Formats: sequence, C-alpha cells, structure tokens
Amino acid sequence: MAEERTFSIIKPDATRRNLTGQINAMLEDAGLRIVAQKRIRMTTGQAEEFYGVHRERPFFNDLVAFMTSGPVVVQVLEGEDAVAANRKVMGATNPAEADEGTIRKRFAESIEANSVHGSDSRENAAIEIAYFFSGTEIVG
Ligand code: ATP
Ligand code: MG
Repeated sequence: MAEERTFSIIKPDATRRNLTGQINAMLEDAGLRIVAQKRIRMTTGQAEEFYGVHRERPFFNDLVAFMTSGPVVVQVLEGEDAVAANRKVMGATNPAEADEGTIRKRFAESIEANSVHGSDSRENAAIEIAYFFSGTEIVG
C-alpha cells in the first residue's frame, strides 16, 4: 500500500441531479482527498480521446454523447492505494451489480449513466490526470 493519485469524473447524470457534494462526501469518507477539482463541459473531441479504448464498442457513440450532454467535475484524488480505494467506493460499472454502500449503487441511473468514472490503474491515472490538469492545479 502506498500514497498515490487517481483521476475521477462526476458524470453528467450526477451533476444534473446536483449530487456533486454527496459524491464528494462519499469519496472523502473512503479516505480519499480531493487535491484538484474543476467543473467543465467536455468537448466531443475530449470525450472521444478520453474513451478511445472503447472506440470499437457498440456503445461508443452513445457514451461520447452522454459525457458531453452536460457539465462534469474532473478531479484528482489522493490517498493510500487511491486507485483501488476509489474503484471500491465507486462500485461495479453496472449499478445492478454494484455493492451496497457504493456510489453507483446509490446514485447510478444505468450502466451508461453511472455517475462516476475512476482510473483503472496507476498508469492510466497518470495519463488521465495529465490530460485534464497541469501540475500547478494539483495541490496535495
Ligand atoms: P469508467 O471507465 O467510466 O470509470 P468502468 O471502468 O467501470 O467505468 P468501462 O468498461 O471502462 O467501465 O466503461 C466505460 C464507461 O462506458 C462506463 O462507465 C459506462 O458509462 C459506459 N459503458 C460501459 N459498458 C457499457 C454498456 N454495455 N452499455 C452502455 N454503456 C457502457
Ligand atoms: Mg474504465
């Protein structure tokens, strides 16, 4: 276990329902510190690049449309084992499979509109953080 950083997004279904504060409280209760945060409207180009690994999947165009449908809150989270800790508090991609007490179980509307994104590895976390934040915007 080590101190590390991960990248998080509060997705448009959650900002639309004014859930930013409640989701941030769940992240903080899980031991994660929000060391950078901003609310943005993703462009189509940003969403296509961000989810580029899913380009060949049938849900790709819908996913890009969803991620650009409203504001998102992009965040850098810091803490012990932050990548795994965040994935744990997020819950499974499909809210029907998410554990009790997770953000997706509590708030997700569907497998697509599932309220939050979290990096799936330390390597991807570094790439995703650098895509949205400059070093001076992150204050640990
Ligand atoms: P994220 O990458 O957003 O943190 P994840 O790692 O749990 O979520 P991925 O498999 O990386 O899930 O899928 C990325 C996103 O694409 C999901 O969060 C969801 O919004 C959407 N998605 C995944 N699978 C489906 C599907 N079968 N139908 C519709 N949308 C999907
Ligand atoms: Mg993913």
